[in-house]
Amino acid sequence: MNQLHKYKSNILLIDDLSDNLQLLSELLLLGYNVSSVTCETILEKTFKVKSVDVILVNINTPKINCYQICEIIQSYNLNIPIILLVSLDDVFDKIKAFQCGVVDYITRPFPIDEVVIKLETQLTIKKQTHFLEQEIKKRKNIEEILHNSRALILSVLNSSKNAIAAFQSVRQQKTKEIKDFRCIVVNPIFVKLFNCNPNDIIGKLGFKNLIAQINKDLFDDIVKVVETGQSLEKDLYHPSGESCWYQFVIVKLEDGFAITVRDITVSKKFEIQLQAMANLDGLTQIANRRCFDEYLNKEWLKHLEQQKPLTLIMIDIDYFKLYNDYYGHQEGDECIYRVAQGIAMIKRPTDLVARYGGEEFAVILPSTKIEDGLMIADLIQSTISSFEIPHEKSKISSYVTLSIGISSLIPNLDTISKDLIAKADKALYEAKNQGRDRIVSD
Ligand code: GH3
Ligand code: MG
Ligand code: MG
Repeated sequence: MNQLHKYKSNILLIDDLSDNLQLLSELLLLGYNVSSVTCETILEKTFKVKSVDVILVNINTPKINCYQICEIIQSYNLNIPIILLVSLDDVFDKIKAFQCGVVDYITRPFPIDEVVIKLETQLTIKKQTHFLEQEIKKRKNIEEILHNSRALILSVLNSSKNAIAAFQSVRQQKTKEIKDFRCIVVNPIFVKLFNCNPNDIIGKLGFKNLIAQINKDLFDDIVKVVETGQSLEKDLYHPSGESCWYQFVIVKLEDGFAITVRDITVSKKFEIQLQAMANLDGLTQIANRRCFDEYLNKEWLKHLEQQKPLTLIMIDIDYFKLYNDYYGHQEGDECIYRVAQGIAMIKRPTDLVARYGGEEFAVILPSTKIEDGLMIADLIQSTISSFEIPHEKSKISSYVTLSIGISSLIPNLDTISKDLIAKADKALYEAKNQGRDRIVSD
């Protein structure tokens, strides 16, 4: 029977007498590894039991009784099953025997089939116990790994400066549509940002309402992320405390999502400032040429669609080269600055006043007829004249004066925005030609 086993089980026979030699040789023949020791060896504790699978103990040992032998074996704490070899007339305390590690007994004359069945039973139990112990060990290892990785994730979450959370979809039973999300995990920054208590949010619904406070479209956007698997990155304005700009990154996570919210207020403000600076003229602090071009093109398309008149005023300071030559470049700058501020004073909310070039300015007047544009041009001229900026070298006045050209167009498909500039420029040239300090319309 045992010959089929690849692994040879180790049987230890504890016996002082040679009564059981027959059994020993039969077991050897069947392929077990059988060794035998005397009680002396047990008493002196010089025998090796480590690799023993089953111990057979003869009950009739002269120097030491079988219970003592069992107790000594048990003291090794190796959980080796002990089978007693008894004679029919042997009287022994079975309860005591079982208490000291005996698992079974075999009665003389030891029919080999019975011995093998009993041995195999113990060996199977031992193997199963060993297997279970290994499984428990593996499980403990996995649990420890899980525990460690959970601790690691928690420490990353808790130390992150970004708000991080994970949510699971909650779907309508029939339609399978996402109706809300259940919170699985949140970090302290998330709790602070959304002004909520972790106990009120973890495991609960209500994300839909929570996110609606920040942006009404965000819930639908997140549902799209979960349904399509396509991540979302969005900058949102949400004033809370000193911060107001947040970057939301939403990534699908199983049937749900992970969300990271980063406070980008500082960089966003800087970006807005840079953008504003890119549109401003450094000297005059009014819109620059780049901004003028963009605004004119945008308004052109709008007026083409709405078929409304778009009016443009072009302004040039008279005899400015002479001004510069006489007062110096720095004074020239100051003069340009004052004229720009004067023109900007007249501006209505939708008008755009820009520095078009050196000492030239342009004013875009949306939805304005030429008559109204002329009134504004008039106002600009009288404002600057009221400043009475001295201009000793001007050939027409003792103060700084302006020449103004004005034109108006209802855009159509045959015209372009440059046509409006060309017309206003032409009118300005005409104003110069007619003697300066005047307004000419085209
Ligand atoms: P007109 O009446 O025909 O316009 O004569 P003008 O002298 O004003 O015209 P012109 O184009 O000959 O000269 C413009 C001058 O404006 C020349 C240039 O030195 C000066 N200018 C252009 N940009 C600046 C600037 O940023 N600062 C100063 N101080 N001067 C400038
Ligand atoms: Mg000029
Ligand atoms: Mg000039």
